[in-house]
Amino acid sequence: ALSIPIDIHFNKLWGLHNTGQDYPLVEGGIGYGTSDADIDAPEAWEIHTDASSITIAVIDTGVNYGHPDLAANMWINQAELIGDPNSDDDENGYKDDIYGYDFLNEDGDPNDDNLHGTHCAGTIGAVGNNGIGISGVCWSVKIMALKFLDASGSGYTNDAIECINYAVDNGAKILSNSWGGGGYSQSLKNTIEVAGIKGALFIAAAGNDGVNNDWEHHYPSGYDCDNIISVLSTNSDDDKSSWSNYGANSVDIGAPGEDIFSTFPTYRTPAFIDLESLYGRTFSTSYETIGGTSMAAPHVAGA
Ligand code: CA
Ligand code: CA
Repeated sequence: ALSIPIDIHFNKLWGLHNTGQDYPLVEGGIGYGTSDADIDAPEAWEIHTDASSITIAVIDTGVNYGHPDLAANMWINQAELIGDPNSDDDENGYKDDIYGYDFLNEDGDPNDDNLHGTHCAGTIGAVGNNGIGISGVCWSVKIMALKFLDASGSGYTNDAIECINYAVDNGAKILSNSWGGGGYSQSLKNTIEVAGIKGALFIAAAGNDGVNNDWEHHYPSGYDCDNIISVLSTNSDDDKSSWSNYGANSVDIGAPGEDIFSTFPTYRTPAFIDLESLYGRTFSTSYETIGGTSMAAPHVAGA
C-alpha cells in the first residue's frame, strides 16, 4: 500500500517516490529516473507520518522559518515566543531563541540569508499533505534552526560546536549537518562524541569532491564516532552521483542527492546577488532544485 500526499509538487520528489516520472534538473530542463530508485517514503507513510515529538536540528545557514511549507513544523521555544524581547525567558543561556539560534551573529534570529539550510529543512520536514509545495520525509516534525554558516556558506568550527551543544542541550536527538571540508578538529570530534553519549545522532554529508574519504579525509563526516552517519549522494537511477565522495570505511549510506526539489527562502536579501554569481544561475523563490551530498544527508535525517 502507498500513502501519497496531496502536495502539488510531490511528483517532483523522485527521491521520495520514483515512478520514472519527469522532474526538474539543476541545470534546467527535465530528467527521468528509474521506477523505485527512491527511499520508499509512501510505503513508510502507510505506517507512520507523525514525527511531531522529534526535534531535528538543521545546523547550516539558518532556516527561513516563516516559509509557508515550514512554519508549522518549526521547533518553537514557547517561553521565548511569549516572553520579553532581549531577555532569556527560559534561562537556557540565550536571548530570544524562539526557533533556534544564530551562532554566527550571536543573536536569536537564525533566519537563512543563503538558501542552503532552508532547502535542507524542506527535505527533512516540509509540511506533508497540506496541499501546498512539497512534502518532507517527515510530514510533521520539529525543525530547530541553528545558523553558523554565513550568506556565502562559510563558517567557523567554534560556532559549529556551539550549534551542536545547543541542539543537544535543548532536546534535539537528530542533528543534520550538510557541511564539511575543514581540517581535523579534536574539539569538534569530542563535541560530537559527547552528543552521542547524550543520545544524539549526527548525520553528515560526505562531500562533493568525487574522492574516496578512506584516503582523502573529510570532516566532520569522517570522524570515527559511533553516532555519525556519513551520507553519500545517489541519483534517480540509484547510482552514486559522479561527484559524490564515498568510502567503504568512512561512509555509511547513500541517499538521494542529485536534482533535489525543496523549499527555498521566500524573500530576497542582498546576499542573493552574490549567491547568483556563486552558483552561476538564477533562482526563483519558494521552491528550487539543487544537488549535493548536502541534499542527501537530510533524507537520512528525516528517515
Ligand atoms: Ca532563551
Ligand atoms: Ca507541503
